[in-house]
Amino acid sequence: MSGTDVVVIGAGVAGIQAAMDVANHNIHVWLVEREPTIGGHMGMLDKTFPTNDCSMCILSPKMAEVGRHPNITLLTLSEVEKIEGTVGDFTVSITKYPRYIREADCTGCGDCTNICPVEVYNKFDAGVGVRKAIYKPHAQVVPNWAVKDNLHCIECGLCYEVCGKNAVLHTDEDAVQTITVNAAAVVIATGYTLFDAEKKQQFGYLRYPDVITSIEFERMINAGGPTLGEVRRMSNGERPNSVVFVQCVGSRDISIGRNYCSCVCCMYALKNSMLIKEHYPDTEVTILYNDLRAYGKGYEEYAERAKQMGINIVRAFPGEIQQTRSNLVLPIEDTETGEFKNLEADLVVLSVGMEPLPDTIHLAKSLGLPLDDNNFLSCADMKLNPAGTIRPGIYIAGAAVAPKDIPDSVISGGAAAMKATIDSYSSEEKP
Ligand code: FAD
Ligand code: SF4
Ligand code: SF4
Repeated sequence: MSGTDVVVIGAGVAGIQAAMDVANHNIHVWLVEREPTIGGHMGMLDKTFPTNDCSMCILSPKMAEVGRHPNITLLTLSEVEKIEGTVGDFTVSITKYPRYIREADCTGCGDCTNICPVEVYNKFDAGVGVRKAIYKPHAQVVPNWAVKDNLHCIECGLCYEVCGKNAVLHTDEDAVQTITVNAAAVVIATGYTLFDAEKKQQFGYLRYPDVITSIEFERMINAGGPTLGEVRRMSNGERPNSVVFVQCVGSRDISIGRNYCSCVCCMYALKNSMLIKEHYPDTEVTILYNDLRAYGKGYEEYAERAKQMGINIVRAFPGEIQQTRSNLVLPIEDTETGEFKNLEADLVVLSVGMEPLPDTIHLAKSLGLPLDDNNFLSCADMKLNPAGTIRPGIYIAGAAVAPKDIPDSVISGGAAAMKATIDSYSSEEKP
């Protein structure tokens, strides 16, 4: 037996690119995403360096194209359980978890969300905002369906009544499904998670309300986010007069086993500093860096633009942050001048690094795929075969391979797609 389909695991920007490129070669793609919507981390961002384009404005047309592509079967709330077989003939077992919504009938109107009385932590807003027990993670979700979270639902019954399509299902009306796919090739594009800032206790994350992470900041400065784009102190809701970004939190730090550079944090801190200056020109903005990594095309010029906007870029790593009655104090040594000083800030943003996902590590181990020293997926050859693995027919893309920005994730998604397409064509030619 042989299959010509391709399975893409993970529908962030890398997986979306891979799925589109394969599907446009008239090959059927199964795109497997564990969240209720596709888009990955890019969907959470406000603007994107190096162009400062609105992230969703460039991503959502791609998401919509995936949603309506005749050659793509999109499986959300789904995970790959097992992959067996060899190139041209993989058997992929996928578990699809219940949405508790009749997908064919839901119009995504949001009436159920509006009426639901339960509010809980919203993962998509990185905890800065809340969501309802029946919800869409954000306005531009693909597919455009609500999802009911039975863990937090109190069964008040309101959403069942308000839904004009009778699309909301009870707990016992939807079941876990197992889907088995025969595929020629598999692309793993499961992305990354972020360093847990609580592990660097000296910065007081979760102890001091005005110490937040970069992804929380992204949601805050996003006009579609929980504060409608207003940057606020979490302690008192006021606008900060001074913001300090601390670089390399959970990156390039041998003491906690994170030896590698996360590649994107210098650039996203520059981006967010510029956005603060654009929104609130009077705000004092400082970036405390180790080395400013602006390595890509147009990136050095981007950093220069930030300096010209009046952003203080200081080579220093702070010691233990102290909370005073009114603000935060960061003891620093400016390693260019040798000067010691206490820097005051109303808001501190920790530029947290990128990490491999535990279940991607598990998947790799189950497939016999080696990991690199930092537990990211290992490619067959870093220089000449960056999308290949030691197993023919299994390809890797995006930030699951190493910390990558969006342009590099898109390139690697395209490279993996090309290889999977060749396997599919070869499989078709088999007698
Ligand atoms: P992800 O976006 O992580 O997507 C992976 C997808 O796979 C997710 O949807 C996830 O739910 C899914 N998944 C994971 N595991 C499984 C599984 N087992 N089964 C099924 N699905 C799974 N880059 C830029 O170029 N410009 C910027 O301005 C920028 N700003 C940033 C700001 C911050 C604060 C951060 C942290 C990063 C920023 N980046 C930026 C980097 C950008 O987020 C990444 O380059 C990009 O998201 C990587 O895409 P990806 O598809 O590889 O991974
Ligand atoms: Fe609208 Fe019903 Fe779908 Fe909720 S479940 S979004 S009310 S169609
Ligand atoms: Fe919300 Fe559950 Fe009530 Fe529906 S039944 S409105 S999901 S609490």
